[in-house]
Amino acid sequence: MGGDLPKYVYLLEEGAASMRDLLGGKGAGLAEMTRLGLPVPPGFTITTKACVAYGRKGRFPPGMSAQVEEGLAAIEARAGRTFGDPANPLLVSVRSGAKFSMPGMMDTVLNIGLNDETVRGLADRTGNERFAWDSYRRLIAMFGRIVHDVNGRAFEDILERVKGDRKDADLNPDELKDVVRAFKDLYQTGVARDFPQSPKEQLREAIGAVFRSWNRKRAVDYRTFHKIPHDLGTAANVQAMVFGNMGPDSGTGVAFTRDPSTGAKGIFGEYLANAQGEDVVAGTRNPLKISQLRATHPDLYEQLVRGARLLEEHYRDMQDIEFTVEQGKLWMLQTRAGKRAARAAVAIAVDMARSGLLTEEEAVLRVEPSHVVQLLLPQFDETAKEAARREDRYLATGLNASPGAATGYVVFDPDEAERLGKVEKKPVVLVRVETSPDDVHGILHSKGILTSRGGATSHAAVVTRGLGLPCVAGCEAIHVDYDAGAFTVGDKVVRRGEFLSIDGSTGEVFAGRIPTIDPDYEREEDLQTLLGWADEARRLEVWANADYPRDAIRARAFGAQGIGLCRTEHMFFEMDRLPVVHDMILAAPGYRRVAGQTKILRADLEAAKGERRAELAKRLETLEAQGADLSRRYLGSLEKLGALQREDFTGILRAMDGLPVIIRLIDPPLHEFLPNYESLLVQVTKLSMAREDARLLVRTARSEEDHKFVEEVERAGGGDLAKGVEVLLAKTEFFLEAVRAMREANPMLGLRGCRLGIVFPEITEMQVRAIFEAACRLKRDGVDVQPEIMIPLVGHVNELKVAREALEAVAKRVMEREGVRVAYKFGTMIEIPRAALTADEIARHAEFFSFGTNDLTQTTAGYSRDDAEPKFLLDYVDRGILPFNPFQTIDREGVGQLMRMCVQKGRRVRPDLELGICGEHGGDPDSIAFCHEAGLDYVSCSPFRVPVARLAAAHAKLGSELSRVEDR
Ligand code: PEP
Ligand code: MG
Repeated sequence: MGGDLPKYVYLLEEGAASMRDLLGGKGAGLAEMTRLGLPVPPGFTITTKACVAYGRKGRFPPGMSAQVEEGLAAIEARAGRTFGDPANPLLVSVRSGAKFSMPGMMDTVLNIGLNDETVRGLADRTGNERFAWDSYRRLIAMFGRIVHDVNGRAFEDILERVKGDRKDADLNPDELKDVVRAFKDLYQTGVARDFPQSPKEQLREAIGAVFRSWNRKRAVDYRTFHKIPHDLGTAANVQAMVFGNMGPDSGTGVAFTRDPSTGAKGIFGEYLANAQGEDVVAGTRNPLKISQLRATHPDLYEQLVRGARLLEEHYRDMQDIEFTVEQGKLWMLQTRAGKRAARAAVAIAVDMARSGLLTEEEAVLRVEPSHVVQLLLPQFDETAKEAARREDRYLATGLNASPGAATGYVVFDPDEAERLGKVEKKPVVLVRVETSPDDVHGILHSKGILTSRGGATSHAAVVTRGLGLPCVAGCEAIHVDYDAGAFTVGDKVVRRGEFLSIDGSTGEVFAGRIPTIDPDYEREEDLQTLLGWADEARRLEVWANADYPRDAIRARAFGAQGIGLCRTEHMFFEMDRLPVVHDMILAAPGYRRVAGQTKILRADLEAAKGERRAELAKRLETLEAQGADLSRRYLGSLEKLGALQREDFTGILRAMDGLPVIIRLIDPPLHEFLPNYESLLVQVTKLSMAREDARLLVRTARSEEDHKFVEEVERAGGGDLAKGVEVLLAKTEFFLEAVRAMREANPMLGLRGCRLGIVFPEITEMQVRAIFEAACRLKRDGVDVQPEIMIPLVGHVNELKVAREALEAVAKRVMEREGVRVAYKFGTMIEIPRAALTADEIARHAEFFSFGTNDLTQTTAGYSRDDAEPKFLLDYVDRGILPFNPFQTIDREGVGQLMRMCVQKGRRVRPDLELGICGEHGGDPDSIAFCHEAGLDYVSCSPFRVPVARLAAAHAKLGSELSRVEDR
């Protein structure tokens, strides 16, 4: 067709499924069905290229109209009718259809070809005058609205007026003729021209309108949101009309080749007799289940089942089919990959691989990581969630910090959360401004956490992700008032004890209860099968971040191949350990100072003579007495902690028998373990004021917190309030002073990480001693232990050198003492750009690197991980200044570049350097793809994300191109 001019028109017989770019999804599907011999009404597709040309020039490209004429002639020949023939008119539809499905975003015009003459021909041919005039009035309204922007509401008003309280189907032909007359008048007024009587003009205009609909605002917005390129254009499909509304032996329906919620085999969908597609969408009549057709229309049902089976096998995927029955004859109008729930996606992929329709690798690629996330988390019952929305119970949306759904009583106090959750076994949602290590006991017994401040790596987000607890963080729309025991959102108030529901997958917060559905990995047999295939396909190993034996056991059950990060300091936060930790921290600086002074004094003493010697000896004696006290407190508490840590490590190493366990030495700034400075200041002020009159405390107590404080004072004084004031004041002042001395302007860049172990070596030595004692004893019991000691936050090679030398000496001493040798590694985290830049030097002293991408993102971008998200980062993402949140997905150009450089430099010096990632990105599918490309050995993530990471690692290996099942 069309000589040397480009080919813009393809008959359905000429197209194929592979031509989606040119023919769009719908056109390619129609062509493929035609090739398969399925009953498809004759038609042709005008290409997306024609649409792009039309968009550029505002008119059809040269040659296109002639090709359309030829296409039309081909339809006429196949349909045995002629466009505009008053006796036997052909009617056509013009439907949009882009490469990627954009449901409802673009336009369609039906019944083209009807005019004042052909409407009579249609009436005669069908013997159904009512039907003919009804089709004509639909055309005028649709054409007016879509081609010329006439207000659709005005057409409906006319129809309503004529109908009164009757149904559409109750209108007789004469009434419909009145409607047509009124519609034409409305059209004439709106467009300032008569409704076109030329079918060819109708067709031309409809094609132009469909092309223009590609650039309608809603279509542009949809593409921007779904990241669909704007220069693809839509195809226009011109096809002979078939009618489902020609009586009881006609109808229309949609059918899935499997149940889209469970994946169960068998045709599944709905059928509406004597109706057109738009009637199904309008939902005014209740459709039949497709299965009911089996009894009423057995032939039709059989034909449909055969067609569905053919399409599913041909496309090797579950299909979503649209069909129409015209006077007993089945016509297929569309086929595409069907949307499906997570459970169905997994079940279908596994079943298709088992039946040989897909390879196991293809099956792995058919399931999205988000499907796995959904399957393994408690979810809200979607209908209940919708109901909550309708009942105006939606409150706000915060950061979706840790996925899953939770519903429970609102509690603001972690102690109360613990009491209700642990003792009374009630479901609670803990609501805080932000959380801190002091709240962990409450978090552990909550169903979910809501905070009004903090980002994706805030304390609440990290801890809940580790625990697999849902969390909505940084929900700035809510205002928490601890004193009032309530939070507000605009003019809504939610009080302590009321029910609240949070969706950590979406960040939504609702008042009241929404029922949840619980997951069970053990029962997910299809998922386990699929992940087994994923394991065979992937190169990257998947390890887990686990701090406690129970997490390690869970991680292993989910398929973890090692522990990539055990944050030892989390064990310090346990309620019974905190006082010991406090003692250690408070004594540490004094101990170091006195030890240093003692050393100097001893040297001086040796050199001194006479009176000076006596004086120095006296000073030394005083200092040693002081030192003895500090040493008792510091080293004593370290010994206690060492014993506890040994138990912790024993549990984890035993649980991971035969697999590597990376244990990170203490990392956070020490003051994080101490009470908050501001709270201490308030307490000291209150106590000082109460020295004159202790009852003042009682008289001014307002909140629950105030009352608790009064009780604490009383307890401190053994029941005597005034005495309690004195005792507690002395203690709190001491605490305040210690905390003040340790306060830092930028604690994240201060005394933390390896710096702590260098300044206070006794702490990290205690930890290494505990690790090796545990390891040696376990090995003696026959456990295959593989401890790896990780030194955090190294920036300069000398930091690692100094720390490693001291700690390895401790390890060797323990092994000698225990008479056991365990295989071990020493390594470091890469969390500071300088470490990545000098990775070759650092690799000389490390057997492994683990990318701490939380800190590495913070230090590379200069974004505070605690403040950035609520303050500006999410806004940046919203405004498109940043394409995504770099704390959730690795910023390939920045952080990623440093990582690649680090991998290269490190491996150059030490080819067998073990490389992994343990930041939050280790569980993010896009970041996992990057880690695969960058050549890491493993990713480490929270236990609950291990299954997702196994799938994502397989996707990374099998290729991202194939993983995107088209048109989903
Ligand atoms: C990191 O920085 O990525 C990391 C895992 O360490 P943390 O989050 O404990 O600082
Ligand atoms: Mg870190």
